[in-house]
Amino acid sequence: MSDDCLFCKIVNREIPSEFLYEDDTYVVFKDINPAAPVHLLLVPKKHIRSINDLTLEDGDVISGLFMVAKEMAREQGVAESGYKLLFNVEKGGGQEIFHIHLHLIGGWEKK
Ligand code: 5GP
Ligand code: ZN
Repeated sequence: MSDDCLFCKIVNREIPSEFLYEDDTYVVFKDINPAAPVHLLLVPKKHIRSINDLTLEDGDVISGLFMVAKEMAREQGVAESGYKLLFNVEKGGGQEIFHIHLHLIGGWEKK
């Protein structure tokens, strides 16, 4: 938990949010400003600032995040059509919330 971290507050339910998934390690909720029909944020409960701050002990958290992504993509119906998984890293990489999270983005219309 980090003071004044928006995602810690969401994780701890200090700010009400609808979780599409939750377990001991992760929460998943919809991005408030979606970039596509499906835009989820997959958030480890542990406060880690960014990819730059990962340590070896975070390896399981990050690998598990991709298993959650795979399941959420299937649940959201985009597994077959395809989707993007994105980490923004620090300000120059577009990161605005400094609590690590994986964007799952998809659901564009088929052409
Ligand atoms: P970043 O730019 O840090 O990778 O992504 C942060 C994301 O969080 C943005 O896509 C932004 O729309 C989303 N976001 C910011 N504040 C909130 C919020 O209060 N609730 C939700 N659900 N998403 C938020
Ligand atoms: Zn945090």
